[in-house]
Amino acid sequence: MKSILIIMAMEDEASPLVNSLELKNENRLHNIYSIKKFSGKYKDLNINLITNGTCSRYNVDSIGTQVSTLSAHLGIENFSPNLILNAGTAGGFHKDNAKIGDVYLSSPYVCYHDRRIELPKFDKYGIGFYPCFPAEDMAMELGLRLGVVSTGNSLDYTEKDLALMISYNGVVKDMEAAAIAWVAEQHQIPFLAIKAITDIVDGDKPTEKEFVQNLKFASGVLSEKTIKIIDYLSANSF
Ligand code: SAH
Repeated sequence: MKSILIIMAMEDEASPLVNSLELKNENRLHNIYSIKKFSGKYKDLNINLITNGTCSRYNVDSIGTQVSTLSAHLGIENFSPNLILNAGTAGGFHKDNAKIGDVYLSSPYVCYHDRRIELPKFDKYGIGFYPCFPAEDMAMELGLRLGVVSTGNSLDYTEKDLALMISYNGVVKDMEAAAIAWVAEQHQIPFLAIKAITDIVDGDKPTEKEFVQNLKFASGVLSEKTIKIIDYLSANSF
């Protein structure tokens, strides 16, 4: 039986999907880290979903690339998945005509916009350009959008971050995808990010407010579309 690992940062993002797929939370993934696991079967697939859990020091969801690298590694070691999906929320861009609740599939790669190393070859190493599972047909059939997902460790951005995003046509801004894609590539496991838009990066509303306002709605759409994607994957080979 094939196995899919879904990695999600925040509990609020994950709960609609955990409930819809009726995944069970038996025990923790690791005795030290906060990372949680939820498991079940769906159609002909084993589904394991992990969330980063709560940071014990600050009592908030663990987000960003630091913990995501670790959850990807531990998830792979525990579940040996055939495919890794990073489902989450993200900022979209007015210039790409993004609307709140639009769902993007990462294509053709995911990059980092906050690892600027202006030295020969290190510049590209910093950005990453980690490849994604080919999703053009899936996007067409399911009515989803495609775009380069761009990762950094801040909810806001600097002018330099923005310039870098523009240079590789990054149209979806998040805080986890590139970290997970790097781990997936080390293990030669195909990777795809699924990102529902909670806020418009180049819009006129403050990101924090827009994010909080739209988190519930976007997480609902994210769950619905992720199930459609799993249905598609189950019907087509991957
Ligand atoms: N202030 C929020 C913290 C969430 S940070 C709270 O208190 O709940 C944002 C999370 O959503 C990250 O996991 C990131 O991947 C995603 N995200 C949504 N919009 C984003 C944006 N504009 N830029 C970067 N990450 C974004």
